[in-house]
This record gives sequence, structure tokens and C-alpha cells, in this order.
Amino acid sequence: MKKLKCLFITAFVAVGCYFTTVHAYADTIRVGLEKNFKNVASVTVNDSVMGVGIGNGVKYPIAGTYTIKPVTGNYYVIGEYFNTYAEANAKLPAYTGYNCVVALTDKGWTIYVRTDGKKLNKATVNTGNYCVGFAYEGKYKFIVDGSSPARVNASDGIIGVGDNYYRDDIEIYRQGSTLTAVNVIDEEKYLYGVINSEMPSSWSKEAQKAQAVAARTYMERGKEKHDIYDLCDGVHCQDYNGTKNETEAGITAVNETKGLCIYYDGSLIEAVYFASDGGATIDGAEAWGYETPYLKGKQDTYEKEYKEWTRQFTYSELTDMCNARGYNIGNVIKVEAEYNKNGIVTGLTFRGSKGQKMLTKDEIRTAFSATSGGSLFSRNFTVASGAETTAAANSENASAETTTGTAGVVTFTGKGNGHSVGMSQYGAKGMAEAGYTFEDILKFYYTGVEIK
Ligand SMILES: [Zn+2]
Repeated sequence: MKKLKCLFITAFVAVGCYFTTVHAYADTIRVGLEKNFKNVASVTVNDSVMGVGIGNGVKYPIAGTYTIKPVTGNYYVIGEYFNTYAEANAKLPAYTGYNCVVALTDKGWTIYVRTDGKKLNKATVNTGNYCVGFAYEGKYKFIVDGSSPARVNASDGIIGVGDNYYRDDIEIYRQGSTLTAVNVIDEEKYLYGVINSEMPSSWSKEAQKAQAVAARTYMERGKEKHDIYDLCDGVHCQDYNGTKNETEAGITAVNETKGLCIYYDGSLIEAVYFASDGGATIDGAEAWGYETPYLKGKQDTYEKEYKEWTRQFTYSELTDMCNARGYNIGNVIKVEAEYNKNGIVTGLTFRGSKGQKMLTKDEIRTAFSATSGGSLFSRNFTVASGAETTAAANSENASAETTTGTAGVVTFTGKGNGHSVGMSQYGAKGMAEAGYTFEDILKFYYTGVEIK
């Protein structure tokens, strides 16, 4: 990637070579850059040579650092259209005295003239839904007002956006007075950015290859998961940070599994994965309530490293949590767990002064999301319900009488981290270190699948 050196002239000198680097647009994915550029007031792009265009159309070269902002308003548009910014810009002196700006439209470059109460004998246009201004050194150099959002890329294939760098194209999607940046990127290059955001590059190669195939499968299944883009860049979909976490090991793992995905009965699987299971995975149905033939809980003896965790709550904290969730069971006086054959909690019962509530499925973890420590890390835990406070059971105001300490405290002691459905990443690490291939790993964690 190139850091900017804003020599505006070089943009026009570089036109010839610029167009040779425009890539094909087959097999792209649209990734919403939610972590840094969702509903923001402006987006800054920079590179020594960039191309700007409307949607997937012709890219016109620009260079340096541009701050992109939403633009609205009424303009007269002059009747002439040009092939380049420079030609349109050369016409600007004809409108001296008017507030005017060079504009890129579906018909090419032209000049928009703000009405400002003055009359020009030309047609008036209202700027469109996608209209944005490109400001250079604090002043609008041009606006882009097309039937598709403005799209920018860099001649070297990696463009600076804010403090980050992304491969391929950045689409500037305007929603009223804010912007959201979308990375329109070749699918395999997107995976370069995902793999070591989701798994350390120091892990064994076969584990990284398993991760690459799972991430690719998740990507293919996740198309159009969001409204204006396929996937977001957060853990809601898959963690993606542009080129920041790219490594040679990760890129190799993606390249060596190029195009491979996981199928069950001829269809792409829902390739869910998580950090560690602590010794056993969970059925998809036991987590989310719907049967998925390839997401089967099983004992996992391959995972050698996993998170061990402890969470402690006073009865009054648990009472507050239950009240906030509308369980209406009065003061919590005891917590009990039920387990499946693999030691996974399948039912967590809060006994209260006025009733009881049993949690099942993933809610066993996520019911705790509003507590200070967040959701429980896993469902592979034991629960120790400390000495009950009799007063709590008998009095409406008893929660004030419960105290912290061993008595009156419920302790959860667990192993693993995540929903535990599908592939354990630490398990993949363990299998790879034990000599298994990425296909072995995937076929262990996803039951009855084929990789092709
Ligand atoms: Zn998402």
C-alpha cells in the first residue's frame, strides 16, 4: 500500500497505468464497515492514486486525501458533459461569480451551479439519494451524484480509509445526513482479512486451513445477511479488519483451500464456529432450537487448551437480573442446573420466593448479558448455590438483607468460551497439532459433511 503524498498532478499523469489495474468484479462480497464507518458524518479516503466512479462504472483518477460528506441541495446543471474532471474544471471560470462545483453524474462530468437566488437559463436538479461531496484540503473539489453510490479504489489495490486499509473498492452509501462505507471486495481477499482476525497466525497450518474453509462457507451462506451489504465486519458475522491482520500464514491457508466450502446433502452448511468448548460441543438444536443434522454435540478430547472461568453473583444480583427479564419469581433463593450426557447444562432453574423459572438453550448463557460481566462464557459449567437466606424466601424486602460472601452467593465454574456449536477453534488447534488435516478437523466438528 502506498501512503499518500498529495501531488494532485500525478493523478492525471498516472491515468494510463491506472486503468490497467482495474480488477474484474466476479465473486465479490459486500462488507459493511460497521466498526468504524457506519452512519458517520464523513469518511476519509487516501492514496497516491485512486479512482472514483459511480457504482461499478468507469473510474476517474484522483490523488491525495479526500473527505467525503453527504450533499443535498438544488442546483442548475449546465448542459455540457465531459469525459474528465479536468475538462469540466476548465469550464468553471465561465461561471465566475456563481457558487458552482464540478459534478460526476451518470452522463459524465459536468458543473452544478447553486441557485443562491440567481437565475440561470438551465434545468434545475435536486441532488439524488447518493449525492456526496469529495473535499480536498477543506474544500469541495467535486461531487458525485449518480444512480448508484460513489465508489473509490486505489491503483495499487489497497486504499486508506480513515486509519484503516482495505483491498479493492469502497462504496460510499449515503443514508440522509450520514454515510456508511461498504467494502466491495473479491471473496478470497476478504478471507485474507478474516482468517487472522478470527484465529492467531501462529497456530498450525491445518487449523488455519480449517478456519479458512469454515469462514469461506460462512461467507457464502451469509450473502445478503444485511440490508445494503452482505456481511458486517464485526463478530455478528465474521471479524474483519481490512488488511490490518493479514499475515503470510493466513494468506497461504486461504490460497491453499481456494474455493473450498463445506456441504451437507449438497447444500452449503451453516459453518458456525466458536473459541473453545472445554470438552464437549453442543447440538445446534440444544442451542438454538432447530434441528441441524450436521451440528451435533459431541465429546471433544482434542481440545487441550481452553478458557476456565468463574462467575459469582449475590442472590440480590440474580433477583435484579430475573426482575429485569420479567421472570416474576420474587427473590431468587436457589439456582440449579441439569446436564446432558456430555456435561453440558441443558436447564438452569432459578427458584424464587414466588415461583421458578427454567432457562434452556442458549438463553442459559445469554440471560446474563445485562450483568456486569456479560453472558456466561459457556454452558460447560457447574453451579454452587451458596447457603440460602431464609429471610429472602419469606420477605418482600429480603433482598436488602442478603449479603455478599460465601453464604448468599451463587458461583458458576466453567470451561470453554462461546456457543459451542460447530467447530471449536482451540479444538482445531489441538487436532492440527496432533497431525490431523483440515478436512479431518472439519469432518469431526461438522457431522456427515463433504468438502469440495
Ligand atoms: Zn453482521
